[in-house]
Amino acid sequence: KLYNTVQDLKGSIRVFCRVRPLGTTGDSADGCLDVGLEGQLAVYEREKDRRAVYRFDKVFAGNSTQAAVYEDVQTLIRSVMDGYNVCIFAYGQTGSGKTHTMTGSNTEDSSGRGINYRALDDLFALKAQRDQEMHYSIRAQMLEIYNESIRDLLVDNNSSSGGGPNVLQLLSTQPSGENVPGANKVEVTTTEDVLHMMRIGARNRHMAATNMNDRSSRSHQVLTIVVDGENRLTRARTHACLHLVDLAGSERTDKSGVEGDRLREANNINSSLSALGSVMHALANKQKHVPFRNSKLTELLQDSLGGNAKVCMLMHVAPEATSYGESVSTLNFGNRVA
Ligand code: ADP
Ligand code: MG
Repeated sequence: KLYNTVQDLKGSIRVFCRVRPLGTTGDSADGCLDVGLEGQLAVYEREKDRRAVYRFDKVFAGNSTQAAVYEDVQTLIRSVMDGYNVCIFAYGQTGSGKTHTMTGSNTEDSSGRGINYRALDDLFALKAQRDQEMHYSIRAQMLEIYNESIRDLLVDNNSSSGGGPNVLQLLSTQPSGENVPGANKVEVTTTEDVLHMMRIGARNRHMAATNMNDRSSRSHQVLTIVVDGENRLTRARTHACLHLVDLAGSERTDKSGVEGDRLREANNINSSLSALGSVMHALANKQKHVPFRNSKLTELLQDSLGGNAKVCMLMHVAPEATSYGESVSTLNFGNRVA
């Protein structure tokens, strides 16, 4: 029986779902998810005999490769070279595979690399392919949003005394890619440049993590690729941004007994994810008022979410029975924005 179905794909929001393989985090081997055909995903709770079926534009099973996932977002990503703003979000509870999808592992044979690496390599390939006709400049910016403040992950911490407060201002009058004027943008032309940039970003995130236990799961990471093109003959220009977003973990923190910093964190994550949900819902349903200003994240990405921007939500779910509740809540979020 179908309890939930996503209506026909509206606007340009795509919602995919990726299931993590069972047992990668050492949880029980008992499952709660079945991948079906044609974008169907069943979630069940054995003891209570409960089962619901969700539908997405595509569901990736636990054994799907990084290459296979990339294949389905490739067209979207490539459209940034034609001047479309694009946002790709990884949503899900901590441990569901968001960072695996977006960054992945930098294996020798590159098969483990995630969307971030593949997207840049792909843009370089397109740039070379169109070189006769177009001149492109590709720049990258990497930000972290933590407790509603924005930090630059590409700032070299060696020169900024161990990553002090370093909080950046957001100018909502400017388009995305230009709206954090204090952020570094580095020109990238080769895979080597990208590897170098990713290492700096990861190191900065890691340095913050030593102060605060696993901060990466409680902050949003936003990698923005700014693409400027100019037709060599006509001088016609294109300008667009590709935003690759590894969201904070969506799990509900048990707020009883939580105080101070942890409570503030939990409330901030909660409200920024729900602000994102409301914005997507408003856009998908073509509502007049879209509440971009309710969180730093939606404000940062405002002009890359609405208009003729293209958005893809990658919902991540953990298949263990112990994750049933969080999986249902992630799937419901995905259904609401579709
Ligand atoms: P998140 O970023 O959502 O907290 P991670 O990406 O860190 O989750 O994934 C948690 C663990 O599961 C990591 O060890 C990761 O390598 C592994 N993992 C996640 N997704 C997959 C996958 N599709 N295939 C293999 N291992 C995965
Ligand atoms: Mg992560």
